[in-house]
Amino acid sequence: MWRGIRIAILSIVLVIVAAGAWLDRQRTTSWEHTVWVGAFPVNADGSRAAGDYIAALSPAQFQPVSDFIAREAHRYRIALDAPVGIRLYPALAAAPPALAPAAGPLERLAWSLRLRAYRARVLAAIERSQPKITLFLLYHDPALSAALPHSLGLQRGLMGVVHLFATPAQAAQNQIVTTHELLHTFGATDKYAADSDAPLFPDGYAEPDRQPRYPQRYAEIMAGRVPVAPGRQQMPDDLSQTLVGAATAREIGWSRGK
Ligand SMILES: [Zn+2]
Repeated sequence: MWRGIRIAILSIVLVIVAAGAWLDRQRTTSWEHTVWVGAFPVNADGSRAAGDYIAALSPAQFQPVSDFIAREAHRYRIALDAPVGIRLYPALAAAPPALAPAAGPLERLAWSLRLRAYRARVLAAIERSQPKITLFLLYHDPALSAALPHSLGLQRGLMGVVHLFATPAQAAQNQIVTTHELLHTFGATDKYAADSDAPLFPDGYAEPDRQPRYPQRYAEIMAGRVPVAPGRQQMPDDLSQTLVGAATAREIGWSRGK
């Protein structure tokens, strides 16, 4: 009998989690109301450079991200003036739990639960109108780390953990990475080859029908690079060299079809 009860309770929990994920998806991809995104800076390495950079952050630095999403949404005939609004919150004292690079499935599960608990604690401190999506922006001093850990955006969980360089020279790249991870939280998938960073054809190309195919003029935001020749791609300078491609638009509910 206990076994039956245990299975029943587990089934109920699973149904609640699945229903929650479904509801989240409906709420964030209906594009009938502005989705509020909370940006929470974190000093990732405890450095003075990251601290100073965070202290100087302003909402204006996130405007290009919401402007890009609005511009692209309108291109896909979404009527909403401001599909997303980004609110900058004060810096958090503690970083989100990190995932060990070699983590197995059970460790991943435990980490994702810890991450959700961390997010819940952060949101609980906000008294009213909590953001629907949370982005944890972890700033690193470029003098201390040449490469950053992988950023991630989770649709199930409605949050992103985004690693960024704490220098004005990287502001445009930071905006691209932030937009990429934000679109993951709306259900967009990566569109580049994991081993080579090459955009996948056709979905990772902003203009797959362009003739001749190379050089492409834009990066597809979920591919992240501009294909300039077969097997060769470049980082876009900024969001103005970046588009939301047809496949990404379908994934995030901007267009119907296959
Ligand atoms: Zn990605």
